[in-house]
Amino acid sequence: MDPLAYLSEQLAGWREAGTYQRLRILETEAAAESRFDGREVINLASNNYLGLTTHPRLREAALEAVRRYGVGSGAVRTISGTMTLHMELEERIARFKNVEACVVFQSGFAANAGTVSAILGPDDHIVSDTLNHASIIDGCRLSRAKIHVFPHKDTQAAAQILAQLASGPGRKLLISDGVFSMDGDIGPLPALVEAAERHGAIMMVDDAHASGVLGRAGRGTIDHFGLHGRVQIQVGTLSKAVGVLGGYVCGSRDLIEFLYHRARPFLFSTSHPPAVAAACLAAFDVLEQEPERIEALWNNTRYFKQGLAGAGFDTGLSETPITPVMVGEARRAHEFSRALFEEGVLATGIGFPTVPEGKARVRTIVTATHTQAQLDRALEVFTRVARRMGII
Ligand SMILES: *Cc1c(COP(=O)(O)O)cnc(C)c1O
Repeated sequence: MDPLAYLSEQLAGWREAGTYQRLRILETEAAAESRFDGREVINLASNNYLGLTTHPRLREAALEAVRRYGVGSGAVRTISGTMTLHMELEERIARFKNVEACVVFQSGFAANAGTVSAILGPDDHIVSDTLNHASIIDGCRLSRAKIHVFPHKDTQAAAQILAQLASGPGRKLLISDGVFSMDGDIGPLPALVEAAERHGAIMMVDDAHASGVLGRAGRGTIDHFGLHGRVQIQVGTLSKAVGVLGGYVCGSRDLIEFLYHRARPFLFSTSHPPAVAAACLAAFDVLEQEPERIEALWNNTRYFKQGLAGAGFDTGLSETPITPVMVGEARRAHEFSRALFEEGVLATGIGFPTVPEGKARVRTIVTATHTQAQLDRALEVFTRVARRMGII
């Protein structure tokens, strides 16, 4: 008897429910139009917001780093794996974000999970938006602090929880995504920051989907809302708009020094290859020198949203390039996604447990590099397939 037979049963159940997902295989560069599984499709499923995954300056920087430094760092940061490029990148990001210091992790996931679990313990409290990213949730669990979840963007509920906790023992952390990854709405940071300040809580924002998208030159939601100096812990990613791989935490020099000593992914997992650090460094130059990319991203975002709304789609509460097309049941979202793919558009079906039951959707993300012709074609396919399926 196979002791893992229960996994096969679970898989069979998913196939039955229509929620089993085969991996789509990308056979070309990640671009606005790419080939997946042998089919050329308009790619509305990547986080490559600014087209930096294939930017010539990033490519060159990566190649040059490989030539000079090889392909690996050889160790974790605290042993012998801190290269000049890693330090340059951290200093570059800290300057960009207008903070004292920055630490780069292997991914945004590692940044969140490693930071929350390092700075809090079992006697502490975390007040967290119900739609916060999985890496925040895992970090909260790893910290063993008490977790208080508030309804999505309900700043009064968050403030109320903080008020109740204020007189009791333990440290308090208030944490929110800057942009929510499944709905594309922006976190209510001004009210959250005020609540944190009123009740003496630490404020932490995960700007994975805001990095390179919101704020001046893509500095994120803290810059977007003018909250500089009032958010103690800013997390960002290098894997989405920045086009490469990694995550970072920005804050005070002492926060960063503390994480150098205590964040477990930093201590126990090997640092980025030099090519990754070099490509990220080049990306920050591009962010500052090619503002037209962010402009194009937002123009495309407005154009595509208008097109979807005009066709009668329910696009939820999105305020960013992430636009969900609400469908309802998970099976239907996956069917819709498969049908779109057959017609030349890649957009991911997302259902429970990634989003609540009954709130399944096909998620679209436009990028700066989509042409108007591509967006028109995508809109035409969305409309035709949705009419056929009775979604609109
Ligand atoms: C994508 C994402 C992460 C993880 O970032 P990676 O660099 O891909 O590990 C963290 N938080 C949020 C909100 C995200 O959307």
